Amino acid sequence: MFEAVISQIRSFFPGKEFIPLHEPKFIGREKEYLTATIDSTFVSSVGKFVDQFEEMMREYTGAGHAVATVNGTSALHAALLVAGVAAGDEVITQPLTFVATANAISYCGAQPVFLDVDRDTMGLSPTALRAFLKEHTEQTGNACRNKTTGRRISACVPMHTFGHPCRIEEIAELCREHNLFLIEDAAESLGSTCMGKQTGTFGILGVYSFNGNKTITCGGGGAIVSNDKALAAHAKHLTTTAKKPHPYLYEHDEIGFNYRMPNLNAALACAQLENLDRFLADKRELAALYRNFFRSQPTIDFVAEPEGTRANYWLNTILLQDCTARDLFLAESNQAGVQTRPAWTLLNRLEIYDHCQTDELANATWLAERIVNIPSSVRL
Ligand SMILES: *Cc1c(COP(=O)(O)O)cnc(C)c1O
Repeated sequence: MFEAVISQIRSFFPGKEFIPLHEPKFIGREKEYLTATIDSTFVSSVGKFVDQFEEMMREYTGAGHAVATVNGTSALHAALLVAGVAAGDEVITQPLTFVATANAISYCGAQPVFLDVDRDTMGLSPTALRAFLKEHTEQTGNACRNKTTGRRISACVPMHTFGHPCRIEEIAELCREHNLFLIEDAAESLGSTCMGKQTGTFGILGVYSFNGNKTITCGGGGAIVSNDKALAAHAKHLTTTAKKPHPYLYEHDEIGFNYRMPNLNAALACAQLENLDRFLADKRELAALYRNFFRSQPTIDFVAEPEGTRANYWLNTILLQDCTARDLFLAESNQAGVQTRPAWTLLNRLEIYDHCQTDELANATWLAERIVNIPSSVRL
């Protein structure tokens, strides 16, 4: 039924038998930097590439400070902790996200509240957030309290789904009004901008991932950015075992984490970040090809970047008419060696999170039945 669509996708990746959803591309100075790192023997916890990568991330995002971490999940965990999310708190996020967003909240001893997304951005909906805050919360002192559970809601973690920026300015405004820490899960959206400003820099802290399937990768890695010097310093401290600086004494002033990015990974990360703009330009080209093609397909919608934003098009996304069509498309494309996949199971439907508070989730449910991610690798 979808043969024509599948062969069109195939034609965008000529000469490939199997077309993966997203494969890494090492066409820069990766090997040079890795060799230099090995030769230096500084492969682990210290080394110049970690510092260099943090400096490059700072520059690229325009954030005041950047801290490299071992992966995106640990970056989220540390960001939530330094923001002040504590055990017994609740944290607002979206159910249409990778499980790491909610897991990081759980690691803090807090519990997620899942609110709906917008249909066009696929990210947390400011309309849903506003309605929830109005109906279900009250301000006591400087805290936002959930009237149903009596617990403090300390933070809000929107996610820029598949690289498409959510309505982050409106969300930021609501967070300011209601004393919620805004922490952006920008794991998928490195290089995406909203009104010219990088996603990840709208909240008090933002988090990126450099896992193997992301726009750029260093095997495993993450970063925290912030404009707040003290928060960034605390994030660095907490992710490096909270060791007090000293030439040889080991003293630790809080229970920290070994969340450092090894220098070996940082070497790879530097080489990858040098190529990010080239990758993004190439991904935009592919997105334009897809967008143009899917205009001719009355039963399939291509998800284009929301107005006022520039997406990194990390994973190109199409919407099928219903879950029957979606399942058929998934089966046919994967059978034909064109890797595609549906959206994540909504997190509130996982047994580990099915006790969490939600709103109606009409858009998230609608999207989850229709979303298919299609091959999106850089083709350089
Ligand atoms: C990839 C991802 C993460 C976590 O990244 P890791 O580096 O794999 O730990 C977190 N949130 C979202 C939305 C992601 O897509």
